[in-house]
Amino acid sequence: STPIRVGIVGYGNLGRGVEAAIAKNADMSLAGIFTRRPSASITPIDPSASVFTIDALTEHENDIDVLILCGGSKTDLPVQGPELAARFNTVDSFDTHARIPEYFETVDAAARRAQTTALISTGWDPGMFSLNRLFGEALLPDGDTYTFWGRGLSQGHSDAVRRVDGVADAVQYTLPSQKAVDAVRSGTRPVLTTRQKHTRECFVVLEEGADADAVREAIVAMPHYFADYDTTVTFITADELARDHSAMPHGGFVLRSGLTGQDHAQIIEYSLALESNPEFTASVLVAYARAVHRLSQQNQHGAFTVLDVPPGLLSPKSPAQLRAELL
Ligand code: NDP
Repeated sequence: STPIRVGIVGYGNLGRGVEAAIAKNADMSLAGIFTRRPSASITPIDPSASVFTIDALTEHENDIDVLILCGGSKTDLPVQGPELAARFNTVDSFDTHARIPEYFETVDAAARRAQTTALISTGWDPGMFSLNRLFGEALLPDGDTYTFWGRGLSQGHSDAVRRVDGVADAVQYTLPSQKAVDAVRSGTRPVLTTRQKHTRECFVVLEEGADADAVREAIVAMPHYFADYDTTVTFITADELARDHSAMPHGGFVLRSGLTGQDHAQIIEYSLALESNPEFTASVLVAYARAVHRLSQQNQHGAFTVLDVPPGLLSPKSPAQLRAELL
C-alpha cells in the first residue's frame, strides 16, 4: 500500500525528532519540511529531504496526507493550529495545559468547516500521561492520581536561571522526590505539597568576577520558579556544561492509588525514562499522524485529543493482526 505522506511544519528540536521518527516507520514518507525561515538555512538530518518555505504549502496540498505541526505552544501553535487545520489534516503537541479547552474550540471550528481531521495536544504530557490519568480515574474511582516529572531538563526554568545577574549559562533539572514517590507507591494516598513532590537542581556557569553566593541566593529565592522548592545550585565550567548537560532528558510517572471492594489497595503506575524529550514526543506525534490519516479516511472530521482516538488506530498492524498478537 502507498505510504502516508507526512509534512513537517517548523524545524526546531521537535521537527528534527519527527524527521527521525518518520524514518523508523515503514508505512510513512516525508513529503517535505516547511519553515518560516529561508529554506537554505535549514540542514535536515537526511540531506536529500526537501525543505520549503511555509508559503509553498499551497503547491503541496495534494501531496500531503497529514501535517505535523512542530511550532512552539506559546506563540506559534495558537496561530498555525487553526490556520493549517483549515487546509490540512494536522497533529500537534500544544502543551499549555490551561489553554487546551479554548485551543480545541478554535481548531475544531476550523477543521469542521474544512472537513479535515486535527489531533491536538499529543506527546507525553499532555499525551500519554493524559491517557494514563484517564485509565486510573475510570478503573479506580475511589482513588487519587499523582503525576511526577523528571529527572528532566526544564527549558523554562533554565531560561529563568540564565536571566539572573552574574550567570553566563545554566541548565535546570526537575527531580521527583524519592520519599514522595515511595509514599505514593506504598498505597497510603498521601497529601503532598509542591515542595514535597519535586526538587530542583541547577548547574550554573558564572560570569567572570560574579559573586557565587549572591547568584545562588537570587536563584533559590526566585518567586514562582524556585521559592516553593528545595533547590540546589552547583557551579561548573562552560566546558563541563557543554560536555555533561547538552542532552534533553525527561520523563516521569503517573500513579493511581485506589481502593476496591473490601478496601484492597490497587496501584497503577506508568513510567517514562527519556534520553531525548523531543525525539520521544516526535515519536508519539508520528503514531498519531497514522491515526489521523485513518480517521480522515473514515470521514471523522473536527478536532480530537488522545482521549478520543481508539488505540488500534495508532498501530500499522490490522485489527485482526492486533487481536491475534496482543490480546
Ligand atoms: P523549538 O524552539 O526548538 O522550535 C519551535 C519553532 O521555532 C520551530 O518549529 C521553528 O519554526 C522555530 N525555530 C527553531 N529553531 C530556530 C532557530 N534557530 N531560529 C529561529 N527559529 C527557530 O521548540 P521545540 O521543538 O523544542 O518544542 C516545540 C513545542 O513542543 C514546545 O513549545 C512544546 O510546547 C511542545 N512539546 C510538547 C510536549 C508534550 O509532551 N506534549 C513535550 C515537548 C515539547 P520555523 O522552522 O518555522 O522557523
